[in-house]
Amino acid sequence: MDLGISGRVALVLGASKGLGRAVATELHAEGARVAVVARTLDALEGVVADTGAVAFAHDNADLDLVPTLVEGVERELGPIEILITNTGGPPARPDALSHPLEEWELAHRTLVLAPMALIEAVVPGMRERGFGRIVNIASWAVREPAPNLMLSNSHRSATLAAFKTLARQLASSGITVNSVLPGRIATDRIYELSGGREAAEEIGRTEVPLGRLGAPEEIAAAVAFLCSGRASYITGVGLLVDGGLSRLV
Ligand code: NAP
Repeated sequence: MDLGISGRVALVLGASKGLGRAVATELHAEGARVAVVARTLDALEGVVADTGAVAFAHDNADLDLVPTLVEGVERELGPIEILITNTGGPPARPDALSHPLEEWELAHRTLVLAPMALIEAVVPGMRERGFGRIVNIASWAVREPAPNLMLSNSHRSATLAAFKTLARQLASSGITVNSVLPGRIATDRIYELSGGREAAEEIGRTEVPLGRLGAPEEIAAAVAFLCSGRASYITGVGLLVDGGLSRLV
């Protein structure tokens, strides 16, 4: 299937490893011209070597620097047509009442305010050109709050609602706004949360109906489709990619 995104300019946040790196790689394979972001340029060396993407160091917690990031990408590659909002997961705590205020505020900045600031910066250009694809990497936890992940459960639900709101507002401008909801995917994040790689793989075998963890490339394939011309009538969705993990219809 030709996704119809060859030559499109894509900005992928959180792209040094894990899901973001897989998305950047997939978009590059589909012919997009990709800018990748993480907190350091060193961490982006691998994805740049694989894809020839243009790398930018940027901390999602620093909202004031969003216009500088967007200007830099547009100077190097041209107007941003595809935006993938993604960042590291917030800390886990078994006691949902034990997060200090600073952790709540940082999670709010990186998971809710950062995607909104990026969207505010790119939407005027997308509107002018009558085309835009915005996809947030969220979590299956917006459907079933996950144990130990109070900050993720709370903030991702806020962002899902914000994306739905924006989808309706931007639909008539040719801009789609969607979320992908990964289940348990084989990355450093899930290994850390599970107490190591083997423990994570055991959870995949025993808890996921498909009997294994997902591969980052399986998230990337769903994201790339939502970015495509072929997905032009899909907006405002939260697409579960979880191997059947969620029980909700
Ligand atoms: P990961 O392997 O930990 O990768 C996180 C990426 O985000 C890295 O590239 C990291 O780069 C970047 N990052 C972290 N904090 C940042 C910041 N403040 N500013 C800019 N970049 C930042 O995580 P992942 O598994 O790919 O997950 C991606 C997102 O999906 C996370 O929010 C995670 O909670 C969520 N999710 C993951 C799963 C799963 O099973 N893996 C399931 C549901 C949801 P640097 O550290 O180099 O800056």
